[in-house]
Amino acid sequence: MTVLVPTMGALHKGHQALIKRARELDKEVVVSIFVNPLQFTETEDIEKYPRTPEADIQIATLAGATQVWFPTYEEIYPSQPIQISAGQVGERYEGASRPGHFAGVLTVVNRLFEIVKPNKAVFGEKDFQQLWLISNHFKKVKIVAVPTVREFDGLALSSRNVRLTQADRAAALIISKALKEPSRMKEILATEPAFKLDYAEIIDEKTFSPASATTQNKRAIIAGWVNGVRLLDNAVVGTNS
Ligand code: AMP
Repeated sequence: MTVLVPTMGALHKGHQALIKRARELDKEVVVSIFVNPLQFTETEDIEKYPRTPEADIQIATLAGATQVWFPTYEEIYPSQPIQISAGQVGERYEGASRPGHFAGVLTVVNRLFEIVKPNKAVFGEKDFQQLWLISNHFKKVKIVAVPTVREFDGLALSSRNVRLTQADRAAALIISKALKEPSRMKEILATEPAFKLDYAEIIDEKTFSPASATTQNKRAIIAGWVNGVRLLDNAVVGTNS
């Protein structure tokens, strides 16, 4: 039985937590490292995505990966792939800002599942909308979620953080601060001039629509940019059942 941990590389402690969780689930753990062109929109520069293959092999192996797999584009897409639609939820929030992004994510995950044939796959809550869409789309592979790994000061780990300067990084902290006070999050985010807001919403975890007074499980989701680097984060609101 195999557990798959799909990644785009530039591995950090967040990815490590996923791999460790995978190893608890089964003894065969495949970590895939593939920067998927289909999930980058036209305005995003795929060439700028950090690539650290040698360090990735070490980090993944230390965390318990039994195979670190760097597929080529041709292996994943030997022919024009059938694009999987991400539906309405795929067009909201992250999907509204990055048209086609989630269709690209579902398409690559589908190909990875077809090739590796895992019984389980591990994803991070860090990308909550992605996790939601994958959990709802793939029913034959058990999708296991891992909580977001943060720096000591609250910043969610992300491969994109390497592009932040010291000052950018300090500004980025406004996101995790705002998540601690969901009822005032827009107000708090507005206090940081270096943070450019995309969205800050409280959603219903069941439907991925704006939460209402009767919503049981709520989650705050935030995305924006600091110095051109896109950052996203989310947190449970209140206590979820
Ligand atoms: P990526 O390489 O950014 O595509 O991410 C690969 C997987 O790692 C996805 O399931 C992400 O949600 C997860 N991930 C990324 N950052 C974190 C983090 N800080 N904590 C937990 N999981 C993460």
